[in-house]
Amino acid sequence: MTDQQTPSDIRESLGLRRVINVSGTMTSLGASIVVPQAIAAMSSILPQFVEINDLHRMASPVIARLTGGEAGFVTASCSAGITLAVAATMTGPDLAAIERLPDATGLKNEVLIQTGHVVSYGAPVDQAIKLAGAKAVLVGQATSCYPYHLEGAINERTAAAVFVVSHHTVQYGLVALKKFAEICHARGVPVIVDAASEYDLKVFLAEGADIAIYSSHKFLGGPTGGIVAGRKDLVRSAFLQNMGVGRGMKLGKESILGTIAALEAWEKRDHAGIREKETGYLHLWKQTLTGKPGVTAEIEADPTHNPLDRLRVTIDPREAHITAWDFADALAKGERPIIVRDHEAEHGYFYMDPCNLHPGEETIVAGRLEEELRKARASNEIIATPFEERYARRISGLMRWPD
Ligand SMILES: *Cc1c(COP(=O)(O)O)cnc(C)c1O
Repeated sequence: MTDQQTPSDIRESLGLRRVINVSGTMTSLGASIVVPQAIAAMSSILPQFVEINDLHRMASPVIARLTGGEAGFVTASCSAGITLAVAATMTGPDLAAIERLPDATGLKNEVLIQTGHVVSYGAPVDQAIKLAGAKAVLVGQATSCYPYHLEGAINERTAAAVFVVSHHTVQYGLVALKKFAEICHARGVPVIVDAASEYDLKVFLAEGADIAIYSSHKFLGGPTGGIVAGRKDLVRSAFLQNMGVGRGMKLGKESILGTIAALEAWEKRDHAGIREKETGYLHLWKQTLTGKPGVTAEIEADPTHNPLDRLRVTIDPREAHITAWDFADALAKGERPIIVRDHEAEHGYFYMDPCNLHPGEETIVAGRLEEELRKARASNEIIATPFEERYARRISGLMRWPD
């Protein structure tokens, strides 16, 4: 079969491995395939001068239209958006206070977050809050937060409350967004939702968020960026942070326009057609794995209800002669490395995510699954690296960077 990525693949001339991403939209792999409309928009603006705040102004109505918010702006990432939205709730449009941050003297500086929402998306979410100069106040326990916890945590120093939507958060025993917003609003506290990786651009504002923040570079297929949408006064105050802590989080003209183009393309995207194609990939891989000794493959819905399924591959090492994580590592080697979604591999399974493939890569993936399972079965011993060693290897590799 022809590999459609080969002829003009920049990675070869750079000496970079031609990885195939079966793990989802991961910063560590370059996020997502940027849509052609965004690529064209970015290259058209790069050689030109623009009045940057006018370009920012153009993004606002597009974000408003897609999210149902009053206004919007674009910053470096969703993580940056959290910091800037939190800062906005502390300073309002006070330019002197904006320049003083992260010194929050005299400002409301407590930001509430349910303990079960304090996750890492590659960095801790509470750090994004603290970067603004705020104090993150953890509410309730990891697996139980009730309305009284939230009510009891609100006081005259409370600037905002942050709500995180992610498969990483605890998925039970916590206060749902509608109730969360109701309690906060009754005491005049604005609600900021981290919806970085969500398809539904409207539901969180509709359920009461004052600000919802999305990543441009995840499902939208835009350049790296963060979209801050919601109440106009708060969006404006978040935008004004560009004269303060937001400076180090700034976007260039290309990413502002690229994000606008990705949002406009999202409106016209053939969502049903894409889902059908992705479902086809999942069925191909499931079929490839069915009947293989020690392997169970099941299609599973996305935990935060995005219109996306994944294949859960569970490995019985006694039969397959390899653990789930050693299988993942084996797939990640070789001529066409396959990177699977393996953050739960210690439990004996990983996921395969179909949403970032180029046409033709699905069959390469199927071939690699067969190849590595065959090799493992042929091994006389069960390939079982202690899980802790795998983690230690990853960290020590990181600590040796850049060599
Ligand atoms: C990916 C992610 C982030 C980080 O988004 P960036 O735009 O890469 O900063 C934050 N929160 C959640 C829930 C995420 O999934």
